[in-house]
Amino acid sequence: MKFIYADSLDLVDPGYDFIEDRNASGRSPYWDDAYAHEILGYAPYDGILISRGIVGGDKVAGKYSESQAMRIRRVGARAFLRLDRQGLDHLPIFGDCGAFTYHQEEVPPYTPEDTAEFYSDVGFTHGCSVDHIIFDYDEGVSGMSGGTPENRRRFEITLENARAFLAATRHMSNTFTPLGVIQGWSPDSMAEAARRLVTMGYGYLALGGTVPLKSPQVKACLRAIRDAVPKETRLHILGFAKANEIDSFGPFGITSFDTTSPLIRAFKDARANYYHPLGDGRLAYYTAIRVPQALENPKLMRLVKRGVLSQEKLVSMERTALSALRAFDRGQGGLDETLDAVLAYAVPAMLGATIDDLPSASSAATLRQHYYRTLADQPWKQCGCAICQALGIEVMIFRASNRNKRRGMHNLGVYKTLIENLDGRATHVEQTDLFSHPSTTEPASHSPVLRSARQ
Ligand SMILES: [Zn+2]
Repeated sequence: MKFIYADSLDLVDPGYDFIEDRNASGRSPYWDDAYAHEILGYAPYDGILISRGIVGGDKVAGKYSESQAMRIRRVGARAFLRLDRQGLDHLPIFGDCGAFTYHQEEVPPYTPEDTAEFYSDVGFTHGCSVDHIIFDYDEGVSGMSGGTPENRRRFEITLENARAFLAATRHMSNTFTPLGVIQGWSPDSMAEAARRLVTMGYGYLALGGTVPLKSPQVKACLRAIRDAVPKETRLHILGFAKANEIDSFGPFGITSFDTTSPLIRAFKDARANYYHPLGDGRLAYYTAIRVPQALENPKLMRLVKRGVLSQEKLVSMERTALSALRAFDRGQGGLDETLDAVLAYAVPAMLGATIDDLPSASSAATLRQHYYRTLADQPWKQCGCAICQALGIEVMIFRASNRNKRRGMHNLGVYKTLIENLDGRATHVEQTDLFSHPSTTEPASHSPVLRSARQ
């Protein structure tokens, strides 16, 4: 099973000054910044996915600046992502349309033809057809029953686009492996979509629209799809939100999936934001310690406005919390005194009231419990990754993007190892090679970069 990371310009400043909390002087964003595979010294994923909706362009506003969007087309995704180096130049680069970015539109803003051209220009190794998300899900209907007229309209758009997309890729010389995207409103309708995609000539399918589904529902879809297509048909899951339950997806013969989850959880998850491998194929999660920047935190600023705390007091509490954590990391502070300093600041920042005003609040006690576990176990000292080694306790401090994203990159590394261990036990190893089982429609020639990388 290949873990493809869905990137949206997730870089950090390698010269960031953690004591002064500022970027390296004279830094130019992107050019001086580092991707996870640069800062870790290896790729913590099996490949990268870039959505057309993230790149943006004249039809959809993306996350790339105009010059970045132009540059990726000019130099290609491999150079843009800096995956053109030895040891990285074999990694697949997937493209999809990022259907969520246009889900409210009547029809996708892209045509199959201009999408195929975009993928070819950017030099993707794999490209997904232009789908249109179906949000409804009904497990109770069988065959092609159920589904609103809108569901059915999107179902037909997705399949018609896949047909035209496949035809468009056939005329390309510098090309990629096409994936036909499945959308449906039920397991059976998805199975029907999969069957029709295989009939068109697709050997690699991508299941879309699973983000709102629960694990058992995704499994019901995969089961129906697997039953409907040949054993050798490869299967990708787009935007796989259940990445942390991946070990239970073994029986469905998934070739690859993409997710951002390990990185995003580092700063979106309230509690489980630092991954720690348990060594038995499972993960433990730790809670990073919040020390937000005093003058940028809305809850703290409200306390200042109400006259509960002065700005000076806040800044001094912030400094005390940071110094206590750093001293603790050097073995110079006790656990309880460190926790006291941290909570005096974290409680008002997170709960909007000082710790003296919350003498018996359970939320404050819960916070103390989580932080106690983090500090007592010191998981960052057990991690050999370049980030934890270089940063020490800074990686466990929930504060500004350079710490939070680095913690996310550490999570990617831990997650990658977890997937590798799963693969070691998997029975579907024959399906995990993305390149060596060409689909009936896969073109004979690959891009020169890819070809040389494979030799
Ligand atoms: Zn680490």
